[in-house]
Amino acid sequence: MNKPNMFDAKKRNGHKPVYYDYENIDYDFGLGKKYFVRTYGCQMNEHDSERIKGLLRRCGYSESDSYESADIVILNTCAIRENAHDKVFGFLGALKSLKRKKSDLIIGLCGCMAQEESVVDSILSKYKFVDFVCGTHNIDKIPSIINEVIKSNKMQVEVLSYEGDVYEGIPVIRDSKYSAWVDIIYGCDKFCTYCIVPYTRGTQRSRKYEEIVKEVKELVKLGYKEVTLLGQNVNAYGKDLYDNYNLANLLNDVADTGIERVRFVTSHPWDFTDEMIEVIAGRDNVMPYIHLPVQSGSNKILKLMNRRYTKEEYLTLYNKLRNSVKNASITTDIIVGFPGETEEDFNETLELVNECKFDGAFTFAFSPRENTPASYLKETVSEDEKLDRLHRLNALVNKYSNEANKRLEGTVVKCLVTGESEKDDSKVCGYTENMKLVNIVADKSAIGKIIDVKITSAKSFSLDGEYIKTHELVNN
Ligand code: SF4
Repeated sequence: MNKPNMFDAKKRNGHKPVYYDYENIDYDFGLGKKYFVRTYGCQMNEHDSERIKGLLRRCGYSESDSYESADIVILNTCAIRENAHDKVFGFLGALKSLKRKKSDLIIGLCGCMAQEESVVDSILSKYKFVDFVCGTHNIDKIPSIINEVIKSNKMQVEVLSYEGDVYEGIPVIRDSKYSAWVDIIYGCDKFCTYCIVPYTRGTQRSRKYEEIVKEVKELVKLGYKEVTLLGQNVNAYGKDLYDNYNLANLLNDVADTGIERVRFVTSHPWDFTDEMIEVIAGRDNVMPYIHLPVQSGSNKILKLMNRRYTKEEYLTLYNKLRNSVKNASITTDIIVGFPGETEEDFNETLELVNECKFDGAFTFAFSPRENTPASYLKETVSEDEKLDRLHRLNALVNKYSNEANKRLEGTVVKCLVTGESEKDDSKVCGYTENMKLVNIVADKSAIGKIIDVKITSAKSFSLDGEYIKTHELVNN
């Protein structure tokens, strides 16, 4: 058994990339059986789930459309907020009843929650029906862990607390045929005081750029239109590997593959350089969408959060992006109710939102995460006050996203059509270059294509539009 340890998880020792040879998987215990993977949290987790599915397929499993009819259920979890925990433990409750009826059902818990000591202790004491726990650093071991579960009929806990390796070649079953996630950097070394990611995902480790470019070239050959380069802090890309190669170089190289759209997420303001802004502004196929978390408008709170920038520095970067990148859409993350946040500090956040007029924001009430520095700070904002601040903030954020969307009414925008509209199955849906969701009156044959759409009406969270024409590929 390998249990996680948060003290070890904080250590930073450097790493050597390990190249994973998936051809060596020779298990077939999944033949004729089905898997169900439920994902919680961010895009990195969604992409990890695509790899978990790829590994399960290699063992013979096929996908089930419901957990009730699956032979193996894997929860790929998120530790970033308390409510993500509650959802996972709620789902484990439902799986407990299912396991009573299906004793050979295999239940696995993976992802960031698996890296938390308290979660693993709970699983060991109260959720003994779980068959295995596997952390974020060793998802490549899932086939051998399942094999051990089948052989021993005992719970397996395989969670590594050290920083992990860089894996190449893990098989992937992608959820979309048009838009693909591509990891470029794992982990994070910023240690924002509220954040558990540096402990659950380990040290910052970049993939070699040759591997990333090779993956994107393969995606182009497969007909993918869009890639999103992923990392907890993509702007730190390359710092751990190269002296003279960074996100700006990588964006250029990925844009050169001929992929029609390149996105990247998430950016930390600290690592954003002028060179990166030039590439985003200068390349037609690097999309003008930047997610730039600010977290607070108060310098006092930014310092307590260890965000490494002041409100003024954030605004300088924000304005540089607005002035350089044509039609950019900029979104952010904001936390309210951080320990020590007064009404005055919160008003500074509202002022910053008034100044930036973000296209959108993910807003959260602070909840302490296990063993992070902020979890040792005295909570000074009541839950009621946090909710009240969240409501006031959301009202302002929604006003500006509505205004940004309204400005698009009557214009023609390019959309990558990703599927049927969830709201109305007679329509399709897709995303504009600057990442706005559009429900479109168009034939289903538009799915997978980049089309011109006339925006007919705007709401706070989406747009409505009509098909105009299929967009001809431009030479980037
Ligand atoms: S930069 Fe992002 S992932 Fe890294 S510690 Fe800060 S909030 Fe967490």
